[in-house]
Amino acid sequence: MVVQENVSLLLYNTFRIPVSARYFTEVRREEDLVELFGGITRDYALLVLGQGSNVLFTRDFEGMVVHIAIPSVEAQIIERKVLVTAGAGVGWNTLVQYCVNNGYSGIENLSLIPGTTGASPVQNIGAYGVELKDVFHSLRAYDLKNGAFKEFSKAQCEFGYRTSIFKTREKGRYIITSVCLELTLDPVIYASYGTLRAQLEQEGITKPSIADISRIVSKIRVEKLPDPSMIGNAGSFFKNPIIPLAQLDQLKNQFPAIIFFEAGPGLVKVAAGWLIEYCGFKGLIFGHTGTWKNQALVLVNYGQASGQEILAFAHQIISKVKETFGIELESEVNIF
Ligand code: FAD
Ligand code: NAP
Repeated sequence: MVVQENVSLLLYNTFRIPVSARYFTEVRREEDLVELFGGITRDYALLVLGQGSNVLFTRDFEGMVVHIAIPSVEAQIIERKVLVTAGAGVGWNTLVQYCVNNGYSGIENLSLIPGTTGASPVQNIGAYGVELKDVFHSLRAYDLKNGAFKEFSKAQCEFGYRTSIFKTREKGRYIITSVCLELTLDPVIYASYGTLRAQLEQEGITKPSIADISRIVSKIRVEKLPDPSMIGNAGSFFKNPIIPLAQLDQLKNQFPAIIFFEAGPGLVKVAAGWLIEYCGFKGLIFGHTGTWKNQALVLVNYGQASGQEILAFAHQIISKVKETFGIELESEVNIF
């Protein structure tokens, strides 16, 4: 294993923050992890990184960054079910396109989400009404505590709204090496999200194929979101808050236009983008940072922002939203 010193992370985070890692290594095989960590007591911090599309660096990382680049995709067809196993380093959208092209249905709504397959369970990625957990079968991970590999079932991952055991209770303990999805040859189409439905109608598509869904989701995303290769960002900076129905009823008196969706018994999910926009932040430029003109939930780096500057701006948004609605926004992005 080659371990480099003082490596720039500029190209390893989509916010394009020019920090560096004290040590940096790339893992391409499970055996690399055993070679790196087996039997060795670590006295340095560790950060596992895929494509860095859900992180904000606020300082240099003084420990070791382990970049996961484990390749390979395999599919096993059992009657009409398809078990697709992908190495943690496989690009998520590469996997989606492989599945769509082969007629394996289940992740087409998750087209064009940046990042690696290995990171997809960490926050149970979701978009346009589908979450990873809907198609998740199992994963394999390396346990840094005891140096053993472990299989996780869906229940063991404790998936929640943009979260899992890997983002909460066991944060930093496991390195995910592969993910297995259970897809189907019998397409199940989810087209209820407003913009997706509207685009299908506009194109006169009444019976969309999974390829239609993938293409349209990709088109909407390209039009609405900033391209990280042009403008640094990490997607939605905050989670949509889930609040009790009673709290929403009170808010509705004062803010009748508030946007919300049912989120389980007695709970609603409030559109964080709407809350931020109401507070006047949409499209606002604040020094070298700001919110995206088409979606206030996305914070951007206009080129020269430091992680500290973006974080300070995020705190301003949190304070204003709290003051206005009494709702505390929680960051979705992992801050280091
Ligand atoms: P990283 O940013 O590298 O890591 C994220 C976290 O996971 C870190 O804490 C890291 O330590 C951990 N991690 C990474 N790999 C592993 C591993 N192999 N084992 C253990 N831990 C690991 N997210 C959505 O859910 N839905 C969206 O629609 C969406 N749209 C986005 C759009 C844009 C333009 C951008 C920039 C981001 C978007 N995101 C979205 C966020 C992001 O794409 C996802 O969270 C993605 O899964 C992150 O993958 P990554 O490889 O870049 O992870
Ligand atoms: P949007 O369509 O403007 O909708 C705003 C919010 O309302 C979304 O966050 C979504 O919640 C919720 N919503 C909309 N229609 C819904 C429905 N029918 N049922 C339940 N909830 C609904 O959102 P957008 O910004 O263009 O994003 C579109 C999709 O891509 C969303 O699913 C969003 O999560 C995803 N996305 C995620 C990121 C990220 O970084 N996490 C970045 C860009 C886009 P949900 O977020 O819970 O779906």
